[in-house]
Amino acid sequence: MQRFFSYMLFVSLTLFFMGAEMKANKSRDNSSSQTTKNVEKITVFNVEKGALEEVENVYKTDEEWKKILTPEQFHVTRQKGTERAFTGQYWNNKKKGVYKCIGCGNDLFFSDTKFESGTGWPSFWKPAAEENVGYEKDSSFFIQRIEIHCRRCHAHLGHVFDDGPPPTHKRYCINSTALMFKEIAPLK
Ligand SMILES: [Zn+2]
Repeated sequence: MQRFFSYMLFVSLTLFFMGAEMKANKSRDNSSSQTTKNVEKITVFNVEKGALEEVENVYKTDEEWKKILTPEQFHVTRQKGTERAFTGQYWNNKKKGVYKCIGCGNDLFFSDTKFESGTGWPSFWKPAAEENVGYEKDSSFFIQRIEIHCRRCHAHLGHVFDDGPPPTHKRYCINSTALMFKEIAPLK
């Protein structure tokens, strides 16, 4: 009888540890599928090629972003911060070229849609391509605004307002910190 009980104890302990091992495997599987789920193909416009192209979206954890961004870039693009007016690198930049996303290099704005808004932030009347950006309602600070972000890496860029110049009458008010300017002759 005693042998029977020790046998049963052995069997139940074995089953218990097998179960624990299976559970651990299962959670490892879940975490890997989680990472895969975040990677998807999107179509964006490539200014230098002058064509749409399929790219993978860029997904990084906060820790990974902190390794490649300055504290200000991290605050603005990943925590929806705003740089102080007239302090950014590009509000007064008049060179011809393309403004790319600081996080992933996605093409965001052309210099020939940039205008003097007097706000102290780089302002544009349209993005380089609608495929390259995303919009979201933003109700922070009790104001209804439209937030604009990079579609490829989801970096916060700024806000869009309806008081811009023709032909769109939109004002894309963007943080310099979220941008990286590349001087080129823009393709049309
Ligand atoms: Zn981006």
